[in-house]
Amino acid sequence: MSMEHSEFSLTVLGVRGSVPVSGPEYDEYGGSTSCYLVRAGRYSVLLDAGSGLVNAPVSLPEPPAILLSHWHLDHLIGLGMYERLSMVGTTTDLYVPALNEGYGPETLDVVFGPPYWPLELSDYAGDVHVHEMSQTLDVGPMHISTMSGNHPGGCLAFRITCGDKSIAYVTDYEYEPISFQRLVSLCDGADVLLYDAQYDGESCQSHQGFGHSTPLRGIELMEATGASQLLLIHHDPKSTDEILRCRERELGRDGVRFAREGEVVNL
Ligand SMILES: [Zn+2]
Ligand SMILES: [Zn+2]
Repeated sequence: MSMEHSEFSLTVLGVRGSVPVSGPEYDEYGGSTSCYLVRAGRYSVLLDAGSGLVNAPVSLPEPPAILLSHWHLDHLIGLGMYERLSMVGTTTDLYVPALNEGYGPETLDVVFGPPYWPLELSDYAGDVHVHEMSQTLDVGPMHISTMSGNHPGGCLAFRITCGDKSIAYVTDYEYEPISFQRLVSLCDGADVLLYDAQYDGESCQSHQGFGHSTPLRGIELMEATGASQLLLIHHDPKSTDEILRCRERELGRDGVRFAREGEVVNL
């Protein structure tokens, strides 16, 4: 863990699930919603566009690819305030999920446009190219593969491979045996696994159908795939630093931690 990035790296920009939070009790883990920057040399991929996107780098050598896992607002609210979109002469590629019939690139106009937002994406000074995400995608040296997991309305899980290293991103996922086996295949041998651990065992019981998971399921996936690092993500808005620190201690596992906003993992 460091603040410098190497040739292939992950920067955590937002870890919070459902809604951004702020206050001294969230200082350590952070309050911004889902956004992760993956860089490989000149190329960058942004996983989700939650409020953490506001802190993403604006000047990048190649147009970044922003990949939306699904349409829920906590994964989308940072987009309108990503400063790069307002810069003349820039291009940003945005990939939206093709999970549900009837929801595609035009769905963005529902959120970005009056009365919910003053501007449409086409009104920004920079060019935003919106694409529908396909099964796989290449961004420079990065190869991205996807699958749809168990979440209300669906949600894409991503694996990004660069050379012999890879990162898997499993957000907004509720355990269910069949899709879990497919996740094991998607994430097999990944170096870093990001996994939805919004709930602990008890709160998961009372939130069945909400589409989220637990640290223990994350460890199960880590063991099944041989991943060396597990970063638990999508922290519940009610999980303060104290709660997360305590859960981390209880887990007491090497290579397992709750992701902290601002941390960089070099691969
Ligand atoms: Zn979410
Ligand atoms: Zn969701």
